[in-house]
Amino acid sequence: MYVCIFKDLNMLEQMDKYVIGVDIGGTNTVIGLVNKEGKVVSRDTLATQTYTDGAIFVMDIAKSIIKLKSFHDVEIGSVGVGAPNANFVSGCIESNTANLRIKEEIPICKILEKELNVPTVLSNDADAAAIGEHIYGSAKNCSNFILVTLGTGVGSGFFADGHLIHGHNCMAGELGHLTLYPEGRECSCGRCGCLETYTSARGICQTFKELAKKSNNIDNINTENITSKDIGELANEGNPLALKTFEITAKYLAIGLANAVTFSNPEKIILMGGPTKVGAPLLIPLKRYFKDNLLFIYENSVTIEFSQLDDNDAAILGAAALINLKN
Ligand SMILES: [Zn+2]
Repeated sequence: MYVCIFKDLNMLEQMDKYVIGVDIGGTNTVIGLVNKEGKVVSRDTLATQTYTDGAIFVMDIAKSIIKLKSFHDVEIGSVGVGAPNANFVSGCIESNTANLRIKEEIPICKILEKELNVPTVLSNDADAAAIGEHIYGSAKNCSNFILVTLGTGVGSGFFADGHLIHGHNCMAGELGHLTLYPEGRECSCGRCGCLETYTSARGICQTFKELAKKSNNIDNINTENITSKDIGELANEGNPLALKTFEITAKYLAIGLANAVTFSNPEKIILMGGPTKVGAPLLIPLKRYFKDNLLFIYENSVTIEFSQLDDNDAAILGAAALINLKN
């Protein structure tokens, strides 16, 4: 088991310093310098997909951090890393992560602590976003909430009774793989009908393409390389197929979220990520279907909203705040 080498963290001392938040995504890795007011004051980016060697990748992250620290002439109190397939307990990104070309296990906390001599914490990217909402966003002072990230996949972080839930193997909150239809769409996890096959950016595109195929009137829209962002723009222009796509997405998402409520009795569900940028065409039907699908005992006790934090900042801020989990 990985044990943080900095056993006696003085939180007041830590809070006085700048912290680093690292958001490792399949395409880019963003390293942000965060001040004590919770603002990302500077950032550096690495192209994740160019790396096939874990040690080189982590050393480049360390170099970026040193560069930011020197350029701004500040002290760094801690480093937090949000990544897919991250193990909070071991401090490693597990082997064979779907969206990374690096296939071996990456002991990122151990390497960064050795190179930078500051405490480093790693967590799942959705958990990091949940921490970000809890400290800087609309889940401030909220002890029970679910943060759901809609992107290439669907991730989630759960807070219950004031604590982030890690679970037995640090794998709690894989809401994207909640089975909606056992005979539904094939999922990257090898099963069928998972929530993310319908409500991720990819799922939204598939729904639109299926509707377009059945429709005679698609206004010369090239559906081949269409993105969820394009479909969002079409929806806000009033395109009926795009609006229907978000109506269907909202229905599936509402069923998944209503089920999630029965596990942890949250006060709030906060959604973030690209597909939420569409706004009303998703949020309005989502609230309606959620109300329809919610078990009556939770009626009027849970709200759904889209995150108010800037997406790019939320991931960095969440990662930067991870050090709080060690206390
Ligand atoms: Zn799945």
